[in-house]
Amino acid sequence: MNDNVRAVSGVVVVLGTGGTIAGVSDTGHDRDYQAAQLGVDQLVAAVPSLAGQPLEAYQVAQVDSKDMGWPVWRALLIALDEALARPDVAGVVVTHGTDTLEETAWLLHLLLPPGKPVVLTAAMRPATSSEADGPRNLADAVRVVRWAAAAEEDAVLAVLNGRVWAGTEVRKAHSWHIDAFDGGGVPPLALVEGDQVLPTPDAVWAEPRGQLSAALIGLEALPRVEIITSHADADGSLVEALLAASNREGAKPLRGIVVACTGHGTWHQDLEAALLKARRAGVVVWRASRVARGGIESQPGETWPVAGRLTPAQARVALTVTLALRDTA
Ligand code: ASP
Repeated sequence: MNDNVRAVSGVVVVLGTGGTIAGVSDTGHDRDYQAAQLGVDQLVAAVPSLAGQPLEAYQVAQVDSKDMGWPVWRALLIALDEALARPDVAGVVVTHGTDTLEETAWLLHLLLPPGKPVVLTAAMRPATSSEADGPRNLADAVRVVRWAAAAEEDAVLAVLNGRVWAGTEVRKAHSWHIDAFDGGGVPPLALVEGDQVLPTPDAVWAEPRGQLSAALIGLEALPRVEIITSHADADGSLVEALLAASNREGAKPLRGIVVACTGHGTWHQDLEAALLKARRAGVVVWRASRVARGGIESQPGETWPVAGRLTPAQARVALTVTLALRDTA
């Protein structure tokens, strides 16, 4: 059997972590429901087109992704590492909540080994809704794993509402529409129409960076990195409070700050002194933009590092992982 045939017919592992895709409403109202109620095997069983396919479903966690954190990420990374190492596995689907999907996508992009596709999917309506989008998204995600494996594309992806986003670009852009995600101005990598995956010409696929190590997985917690926002009337008091709290006995030390900046990476002049003080205390400060599109391009000779197109939440993940990798090198 050639590798493409094996990739297309190989096992797709579906890892469940919770979210609205597994949500249930007792009242029938779409905004009144509990996320993370149904098991991942129930989600798979609810999609007729998945019946008979070589699929394995495992429950890694059962959380509303607003409560995402290192313990779930660590369990997910361990499960992914194990699944991706199996020669019979074509790729992995992760069912997730929409709230922090872009953070998990960045984490996986930074840490997973290259070689196989990993596709995150989610839903904006609970499984009990008459508008439930989870079954289609799950079916599309499995289809995209098989398609990407056959095409030998090995990115972290997110598939929602018929669009395939790069895990490095995807972000939640609407708080309740079913069509809730975009790429921050970067077009989708592909569309899913019926049983077809239609790639966007010239789309750039970012290979995962493969930085996962046993030492990193062994960490009890990731380094503490906070986000602060620059806004009208902003001053340094929040930064000062973070530094003071960090100096208290037994506190988890502050290691980094991401500033959600105005425009192309600027902040209120009254923030500057406190940020300089933080930097002198060894806190790493990165700039991300609070603006939805465009990000911040690095300029020659600048003194405060920028996070490119990353949202502040993605930049926070990138910075805490960077610090964790430094600590465990
Ligand atoms: N709060 C939910 C979650 O992120 C929202 C969703 O999945 O749409 O888990």
